[in-house]
Amino acid sequence: MMEQNILLEFNKKEYKNIMEVKYTLQKLRNVGIIAHIDAGKTTTTERILYHAGTIDRMGNVDDGTTQTDWMVQERERGITITSACTTSFWKDCRINIIDTPGHIDFTVEVERSLRVLDGAVVIFCAVGGVESQSETVWRQADRYHVPRIAFINKMDRIEADFFGTLKQIQQRLGANAAAVEIPIGVGQNLEGVIDLIKMKSLIYDIKDITGRFKVGSVSPDLLEMAKLYRAKLIESVAETDKNIMEKFSHDQEIKEGELSSAIRRQTIAGKFVPVLCGSSLKNIGVQPILDAVVDWLPSPVDVPPVQGIVQGKDVIEQRKASDDEYFSALAFKIMIDPYVGKLTFLRVYSGILKSGSYIYNVSRDKKERIGKLLKMHANRQEIIEVVKTGDIAAAVGLRETKTGDTICDEQHPVILESMHLPQPVISLAIEPLTRQDQDKLSLALSRLQDEDPSFCVSYNEETAQTLILGFGELHLEIIVDRLKREFNVQTQVGKPHVAYKETLIKPVRQEGKFVQQSGGRGQYGHVVFEIEPIERGSGIVFESALRGTSIPREYVPSIEQGVIESAQTGPLGGFPVVDVKVVLIDGSYHEVDSSTFAFKMAGSIGFSAALRSGGSMLLEPIMDVEVVVPEEYLGDVIADMGARRAKIEQLSQRGNVRVIRGFIPLSELFGYATAVRSVSQGRASYVMQPAYYAEVPKNIKEKILKGKK
Ligand code: GDP
Repeated sequence: MMEQNILLEFNKKEYKNIMEVKYTLQKLRNVGIIAHIDAGKTTTTERILYHAGTIDRMGNVDDGTTQTDWMVQERERGITITSACTTSFWKDCRINIIDTPGHIDFTVEVERSLRVLDGAVVIFCAVGGVESQSETVWRQADRYHVPRIAFINKMDRIEADFFGTLKQIQQRLGANAAAVEIPIGVGQNLEGVIDLIKMKSLIYDIKDITGRFKVGSVSPDLLEMAKLYRAKLIESVAETDKNIMEKFSHDQEIKEGELSSAIRRQTIAGKFVPVLCGSSLKNIGVQPILDAVVDWLPSPVDVPPVQGIVQGKDVIEQRKASDDEYFSALAFKIMIDPYVGKLTFLRVYSGILKSGSYIYNVSRDKKERIGKLLKMHANRQEIIEVVKTGDIAAAVGLRETKTGDTICDEQHPVILESMHLPQPVISLAIEPLTRQDQDKLSLALSRLQDEDPSFCVSYNEETAQTLILGFGELHLEIIVDRLKREFNVQTQVGKPHVAYKETLIKPVRQEGKFVQQSGGRGQYGHVVFEIEPIERGSGIVFESALRGTSIPREYVPSIEQGVIESAQTGPLGGFPVVDVKVVLIDGSYHEVDSSTFAFKMAGSIGFSAALRSGGSMLLEPIMDVEVVVPEEYLGDVIADMGARRAKIEQLSQRGNVRVIRGFIPLSELFGYATAVRSVSQGRASYVMQPAYYAEVPKNIKEKILKGKK
């Protein structure tokens, strides 16, 4: 018998009451919705927020009215660049939805949100299947051990292929995934979904955009298929769950509740991925996503306690998810709100935080006062007095705290695991148009940097130019755009340039001396270094191995400063020097003439001399590139990649297209978007991200260095 679904009415009516319910930790979910661009993340988030009672009117991405896209250009570009956290309610749970961006150039934003969420909904497009960007975000979620459920969206499109996409999730992503729902119909005939756990059908009225559905029995023509996929589901769960295995192997009946509990256990353990389906645009199958979040994704107490390094010691300590534990929280996002100003989004891992209290920023050794604490709903802000363990809130009034900083109990400080940030590989010279703009520029850049620590600003004294560095052309483009829109700074930008680096070729022992004795007080600083090349990505490492009293200790920081300053411009082309370890082993000083300045100079002189005697090499960023192309253009695309110094790593088949994966120097990739389109008549697509730095071949190095002169 069909019964009318009343969830929607329930939601609207009960919303106020729910708000007042006391949420226990077990009833809290911090989830991210992750997907590659265009899979339908914004639309799905919108629908979820609608059903979870937070917003009354559904927005539509295509006419630019969605609630989670905060920034103007996101609406224009149709991509979600920043993550915001929105609180909503479903059944007896509170769900914090952490919005994550879909564009590959902003993977750092994805990483940042993955760091603070406990579970994720990964959205796939039933037409495109598992695309390379889906794979990238999936691997990132793997790195942070994020339990996840999958939603195969766009089943209303005629070309939608649920079973094909499911297979790709299993095979390409290597996930132990199984359908917990199968679609009823496809394209225009999509009617709803079959819940394989309850063995019920959910039939939607396609003309009614509010997403009402009727629950009924499975129609006879789909019963066999539903049974087959229920069996596959049980088999997958049994693979890792002892209880289900037991029953499965003895051919015993598995009850709905048992199966659901096993799915929860295995999903939280990261051993199983339940797969749902529907169409967010047509509002079909959205409520089951919320049910799945509540039923199968972890609460903050279901995930391992966060770990932190005790400040000043090499000891790792845990902070249990409990209000009684010492306070610890991570600032994971900074946003400028047009009304309240700077908002710092905090995820509290342990203890509680009250508004008006002082916090200790252990990452910067600073104390700051929290002004207000806010909970962000999709359409309003709620002032709260306290934020407890496991929860997320936005703090007003933190000036010094930047993205990625840990704040904690001053008496019991720990630094939470920091985030993985790729190195910036591309730079852009930026010039203020007028004097007024000049004044505003540095303030605006420093504000933007608070929000996005993955981009750097550097000032080149020789050319009097300000450079911004990021990890993709789009990344920098967005920054320039935000300068104009949000900070009203007009700028003129140059062409993007590759961020080359320099490094030492072979280990050397080197002296550095700074001695001046002409008139007045003299200067005397003398150091002896052992300098060696180290692993890529290490930057400059400075250590003191001084014994005895050859140099008084107080001069060591100045020597280090001299090295760091001198490393900013290498001997080859003035590029920054990286991946070198400097060990201070000896030196001498003068009772009267030695000073911090003299030792800084000695450090700088010693380091530059070492680069000359040990030899320097030029390094360039290499990008990891994946091109997806139909067979008939494969040859042309490969030939074009070859001309760009590509090292092709892999050539594979995905459905009816070929996938080429290779490493290409960034310098060869400017304008690649246009080139790849023209060799494939617009049929090929690609993604790239910084992979590593490698030595520039000799002939090319000469060209680059000539260009610098
Ligand atoms: P995002 O880039 O992942 O945030 O994706 P959007 O939500 O912006 O959606 C990208 C495009 O796909 C938009 O034009 C949406 O209207 C469309 N879209 C999203 N979900 C569906 C769906 O379920 N069916 C169809 N046919 N289109 C959808």
